[in-house]
Formats: sequence, C-alpha cells, structure tokens
Amino acid sequence: MESMKAEIQKVFKERFGEAGALYASAGRINLIGEHTDYNGGFVFPGAIDKVIMAEIKPNGLEKVRVFSIDIDEYAEFGLKEEDAPKQSWARYIFGICREIQKRGGEVKGFDAVFAGNVPLGAGLSSSAALESCFAFALNDLFNNNKIDKFELAKIGQSTEHNYCGVNCGIMDQFASVFGRKGNLMRLDCRSMEYEYFPFNPQDYKLVLVDSRVKHELKDSPYNKRRESCERVAKRLGIDTLRDATMEQLEAIKGDITAEDYFRAKFVIEEKQRVLDVCDALNAGDYETVGKKMYETHAGLSKDYEVSCEELDFLNDVAKTLGVTGSRIMGGGFGGCTINLVKNDLHDDFIKIAVEKFNEKYGHEPKIYDVVISDGARKIEE
Ligand code: ADP
Ligand code: MG
Repeated sequence: MESMKAEIQKVFKERFGEAGALYASAGRINLIGEHTDYNGGFVFPGAIDKVIMAEIKPNGLEKVRVFSIDIDEYAEFGLKEEDAPKQSWARYIFGICREIQKRGGEVKGFDAVFAGNVPLGAGLSSSAALESCFAFALNDLFNNNKIDKFELAKIGQSTEHNYCGVNCGIMDQFASVFGRKGNLMRLDCRSMEYEYFPFNPQDYKLVLVDSRVKHELKDSPYNKRRESCERVAKRLGIDTLRDATMEQLEAIKGDITAEDYFRAKFVIEEKQRVLDVCDALNAGDYETVGKKMYETHAGLSKDYEVSCEELDFLNDVAKTLGVTGSRIMGGGFGGCTINLVKNDLHDDFIKIAVEKFNEKYGHEPKIYDVVISDGARKIEE
C-alpha cells in the first residue's frame, strides 16, 4: 500500500505538479448470502485490504485529466453528457461525475492519477472500488461531504448501469463505501437496512481460490433462477421468497415442479443461514460460520445448480483437508471459492489446492489472502 501511494505521488508530481489529496476505496468479499438479493433477502459483505487509490486535485478547468498507472493510459474529458470518453476504465470516472451532477451535486474539473491492487474480474469488484474511490473523493472535494453514503453507493451502481453496461445490484458499491475494518455488514436487500457484525478472527484467515474458469452460459441460467423464484413466490401469494418458510413451501410441493421446489428451498434456507452466521459471529463461533459456508456451497451446487466441476472440486479439496468453511463466492459457474482456514492449515491448504487443481485442470488457480478492512476514505498524510 505504501509503495502504491509513493508511485501515485511520483507520477502525479511529474504530470500535474503540486500534490493533490489522496483517497482510496476497497474491493469486497461476500461471506454468505448468495442469490438472495433479487429475492429480497440478506447479503453479508465486507471490504478487503485491496484497494483503488487516487490522488486528485481541482484544476480550475472545465475538464477532467486522469492517468491510470496500471493500464498506462491517459484520458481527458469534459463534464457534459456528450463528453463521454472511449476508454472503458475512464467511463467509470466519467459516470461518477455525471451521476453526481444528475443528483444536483457539484463537480468541477480535476486532475487525477490512480492505481490499484484489486484483481480485475476475479469477483472482488475492482469496478466498485474504482467508483467508490472517486465518488467519495468528489463528495469531499466539491460537495462538503453533503451527499450521504448510501447515495454514493447508488452513484456507483448507476454508473455501472448507465455508462458501463453492467446491470448490477447495490451490494458491491455498498460494501466498498460502508466497509469497516474488522466488520462485515448484513444488508437487507428489501429495506436497505444494514448492521455491522464483528469479523476479526485471530485463529483463521480468509483465502480466495480463483479457479480462473468462466463457463459460457446458455439459455440465461440467471434469468431462469429468477423466474423459478418468482413463480414460487407468486404461487405462495407473496412478493418475494424473503417472506416464505419451508413449511409453506412443503405445503405446495405437489403443485410446483421439482426444479422450482429446489430453487426456492435454497433461497429460504440461505436466508436463515445468513441470520445463523450473524448469531455465530456475535458469539465468536467461527466453526459454525464455516459449517454454514459448506451448507451454502452444497445448496448452490445441488439445489440451485449454479456450481461447476472445478468449484465443486475446490470445495472437496478444502473439506478433505479439514478447512473450516468453503463455498462458491458470487453468482456461480466459475470464479472463486471463499475459504475460512485455520492459521496452521493455511500454507498447506494453498499448496495442496494449487497442486491438485493444476494436476486435474492443467492450470493453477490464483490465491488471494484477504483481511476485512476499511472502505472508502481519505488518506491523511
Ligand atoms: P470486477 O469484477 O473486478 O469488478 P469488472 O469487469 O466489473 O470486474 O471491472 C473491471 C474494470 O474496472 C476494468 O476493466 C477497468 O476498466 C476498471 N478497473 C478496475 N481496476 C482498475 C485499475 N486498477 N486501473 C484501471 N482500471 C481499473
Ligand atoms: Mg465489477
């Protein structure tokens, strides 16, 4: 982090002279609560110790001048709708400016240099880190911080929708903006209420294993999952499966397809698992947390059917080695597993998982250790 900061400051000085202010925001993990957002349920994310960091200074011009260290590209754009830059990385920053303006906020011209260490496209939401970093910074620099934090998250989400072609939910930006060291957040995707829970294990580490596979999806499996959930909710006479119980589901089992039954079963059980994990964390009981992670994996794999061979393999390796908890993180069909691993098993787990996976699939998974850390912030000198 210190070397990233030094590099940014060096490049900023070369390009723009006198120093600006430094800001950062984080990528995120989701410990549990998968495919729950569109069912009005809970997610349980936290910000991580991988960030996008930017040095920013108003330039008194009508335009933004920004350099990306990692992509090694410069972009320059005005602040009107028709000024959208071509570079996809710059569109995130342009989108943040525009979404702030659309809400009546102020954005003036500025110079910026930024870099990051959130792996791109690995499921840790580097894009939300980028959006939140700039949204937080422009709120501080031009708006006296009068835009509230939830609105900052929505500004990031709208940027994805309107300028980057990604129709995402609110979790990633929420986690990046609200993240707090040593805490996870339970976000209620229906009411948007949230609560912090302590996550500060002394004896365990969080390890992501990125399979680096992404299976091509035919027949929109995500839409099909949603449709199953909506059909069952409708049959039960409720808005979303958030309000369903297993008893209610059992009572209509004969009237719905087996597939819809298992999809709904997963969603109902997953809601309860998030609540169980909250209780376990309040009690400092990480063994129960791990058990629930395995249950989520089994549900995603067998009932919701969004896993794949490689992720099931990684889950099996973790289980065989006695890893405390392991599951698919994200929508499924590839990407990462998230693992809760005892300190003394950590190195062996990584070594063996990489070896075995490589033996079977012919390439090594990527490993990311993560620590639950602060989200969007100003970096004081
Ligand atoms: P993720 O799952 O990591 O959010 P996305 O495809 O949504 O993946 O976002 C990745 C995009 O965000 C990159 O293609 C790039 O445009 C932008 N981005 C992320 N990190 C950086 C970075 N360090 N430097 C420049 N652009 C970045
Ligand atoms: Mg993204």
